[in-house]
Amino acid sequence: MSKSKKKSGRKYHAKRLVKPALLFLMWIQLIGLAGFLMFVQQQNPQPVANFYTGPTNHSVPSLKPDYNIPPVTNGLAPVVSNIPTNEKVVFLGIDDGAYKQPFELKLLRAKHIKASLFLADSFIEDNPDYFKGYIAAGSLIEDHTVDHAYLDELPYEQQRQEICNAADRYQQLYGRRPVLMRPPGGFYNEDTQRAAADCGMKAVVMWIAKANGGSMQYQYDNTGLHPGDIVLMHFRPEFKQDLQAFIDAQNAAGLHTELLENWLQ
Ligand SMILES: [Zn+2]
Repeated sequence: MSKSKKKSGRKYHAKRLVKPALLFLMWIQLIGLAGFLMFVQQQNPQPVANFYTGPTNHSVPSLKPDYNIPPVTNGLAPVVSNIPTNEKVVFLGIDDGAYKQPFELKLLRAKHIKASLFLADSFIEDNPDYFKGYIAAGSLIEDHTVDHAYLDELPYEQQRQEICNAADRYQQLYGRRPVLMRPPGGFYNEDTQRAAADCGMKAVVMWIAKANGGSMQYQYDNTGLHPGDIVLMHFRPEFKQDLQAFIDAQNAAGLHTELLENWLQ
């Protein structure tokens, strides 16, 4: 091989090395950048929010949500009355909102209980701001229709309006759109499930027990509360007695009240 050919061969070889070398350098820089970003993230951890709880951080450090809610199937939102879970948790929903007694929020705060509040718009329109205190204390506002209508008696379109209009309004009022709905009186049909899904609801939420008239009433048996049960209560004059009945049942079963939305991963 002549000298000149050798030289040009080397040049050619060197040229071939330039591109991989540049790529290698870029790669190193990217790793450095990723490391830096991870470091920054660790220094400033962002609140963990999930789709169901909205922008607020409601995460539970000591408990592990272990349930995936069934998806909307054939256009129908799933119906849930308890959540299969291995954790010792129970969930509380408080309905309606017609009675607004300031001691109720103080009581929930004192007992460290957060609940899903299924409010009917016509019941709260005289003072919607009243419920902002509950949100500040970690509870969430969910959908219980506009007029507290018995949905199974209404055609689909009216059901849809009852559910969607309440959700739209709560989004406006409270900055978070409900993701769960509870049919007033527990009356629903397939149109309700379809309307709920069409309004963006992830589930129609029923209950397995209720705190009512100062005592617990169980839907299916009298063996007390079990992990994952959803309990119904109302904003009523006997709120204090109902809450106490619920807390006694919770304690007797060795359970802890968690926010239902936290479990819906
Ligand atoms: Zn109701």
